[in-house]
Amino acid sequence: MTSIKMVDLYRQYEHVEAEIDDAIKRVIQSSAFIKGPEVKDFESELADYLNVKHVITCANGTDALQISLMCLGLQPGDEVITPDFTFIATVEVIALLGLKPVLADVNPDDYTMNLSALKKAISPKTKAIIPVHLFGQCANMTEIQHIAEQNNISIIEDTAQALGADYVFADGKTTKAGTIGDLGTTSFFPSKNLGCFGDGGAVYTNNDKYAELVRSIANHGMKKQYYYQTIGVNSRLDAIQAAILRIKLRYLDHYNQKRRIAADFYDFAFESIDEISTPFRNSHSRHIFHQYTLKIANQKRNELQNYLKEKGIPGMIYYPSPLHAQPAYKQYAFDDTQYPVTNQLCHQVISIPMHTELTEEELEFITQTIINFFI
Ligand SMILES: *Cc1c(COP(=O)(O)O)cnc(C)c1O
Repeated sequence: MTSIKMVDLYRQYEHVEAEIDDAIKRVIQSSAFIKGPEVKDFESELADYLNVKHVITCANGTDALQISLMCLGLQPGDEVITPDFTFIATVEVIALLGLKPVLADVNPDDYTMNLSALKKAISPKTKAIIPVHLFGQCANMTEIQHIAEQNNISIIEDTAQALGADYVFADGKTTKAGTIGDLGTTSFFPSKNLGCFGDGGAVYTNNDKYAELVRSIANHGMKKQYYYQTIGVNSRLDAIQAAILRIKLRYLDHYNQKRRIAADFYDFAFESIDEISTPFRNSHSRHIFHQYTLKIANQKRNELQNYLKEKGIPGMIYYPSPLHAQPAYKQYAFDDTQYPVTNQLCHQVISIPMHTELTEEELEFITQTIINFFI
């Protein structure tokens, strides 16, 4: 057995090697490295896949969040609510734009934004909510949208970990994650469910006005050549990445299905171990397992992580510290008592290998090793 990785990008590449190599060569031959047809075609292919009106690519998922926030035209001091248990990017862009980050605790089962914490966090200054579809599963958009409408608040969905996940409405109808809010954002960081060979990101929206603004802001705020209507940034996906993504997009559903199969294997194997909680699957989404995250009882998480390391199995802690406790954000004086769930999760969670290339032999070895630790 070759070494077990959290994410095995090389083995994934080997299945599509000829297609990808041809695509890269095509871009080099065209020498259209910036913008050009590959980027345009990828944007329209992703828009078709998501069934959304506009996709605007940019340099990474953090930029996608920043540009989306910039297009809402908020004023300094306006408040934006995002979860406490997530990657730093959401709170970072809120703070960078001179807005005030307000953090909401998450649910103990699916780890997405908790609705009563969200309601409590709303003030007359709240202008936007950035829910995060964490680990491949959607936040409760039906309720979040309802709360946002009542309070005249915009929504930006961070879909960096959930590109391709279906949101399931009460009547059984579905839509792709990121297409419910005013804007959706994603990342093509190599280890994401749709990853390129470097950095990339995108914003999606059904709103024509936002689409035009996002495109302009990502291009220095330019309206027409060398005339600027807003202060913008320089953020673009390059053509080689777009050409790679066009190929990998065709396999995205297949990739997500492979993750689900591995997740089912894990779920079944850990069923009888009381100290392990396997990922909860909420009823309003179809999980695509960007991460397969266990919750470990009785303070055994760190011990398990070390044990796995000795056996050659990586286990990562997403996330080891709540955002409200990060020194960089101490100026916002978050109240630690408001985040009991996040505080506990940071001590209990561990993500185990999850990717598209896990073999039955590897899954057997990983699950048996973890079971041996507990019995
Ligand atoms: C990866 C990630 C981002 C940032 O994406 P980059 O492309 O690395 O900038 C934002 N939010 C979440 C939840 C992420 O997982």
